[in-house]
Amino acid sequence: MHTWTDTDSHARTNRSGKLFIVSAPSGAGKTTLCGMVRRHFKDLAYSISSTTRTPRPGERNGIDYFFVSREVFEDGIAQGRWAEWAEVHGNLYGTSAQWISQALSEGRDILLDIDVQGARRLLTHFPDAVTIFICPPSMADLEQRLRQRGDDDEATIALRLRNAQAEMDQKDMYRHVLVNDDLDQAKSELIALIDSYRSPA
Ligand code: 5GP
Repeated sequence: MHTWTDTDSHARTNRSGKLFIVSAPSGAGKTTLCGMVRRHFKDLAYSISSTTRTPRPGERNGIDYFFVSREVFEDGIAQGRWAEWAEVHGNLYGTSAQWISQALSEGRDILLDIDVQGARRLLTHFPDAVTIFICPPSMADLEQRLRQRGDDDEATIALRLRNAQAEMDQKDMYRHVLVNDDLDQAKSELIALIDSYRSPA
């Protein structure tokens, strides 16, 4: 079982690496924006989550997510393998505690794309994490984006919209809130924001 040790806290206080936590309701453009950030900052370590969700077309195991069964995921909970985990839209998602410890001990900056519950849990371990919430311009815009994306059926869209509102209601816990009205502008803002926290190489 992984427990947060003195080594972890030593790594947290005496290293220059930082945790960047990005959350957003689904459809707000977070995956696209995180992809842009990853291509821009090639040295930023990206935490690949594990999930019990079925892969969407084009998603690859070990690149977008580690797609695991509920049994494997629940075993991970019992073994303390997740730094945080949450149930989102009926599926389980978790961040590997061992991976985070390893990346931090190497002094790397880390980007995490996780939901509000996960961000809240990680903040208890890493209060200095830089938290960024990405908002859609409006709920109507979000609904339109979810429909255009065409990934989900009506029931799932309705569930995602309800969850989106609940997530938006918690955005004040984030250090930064960024509105994704125009993708290019949001990309520039997000990159500039992350850059402002990173130590010069
Ligand atoms: P999706 O299924 O659309 O890829 O992701 C659904 C939600 O789960 C998104 O808000 C995403 O940020 C969140 N998520 C992805 N990985 C993790 C994780 O490891 N932990 C938590 N708490 N949320 C995650």
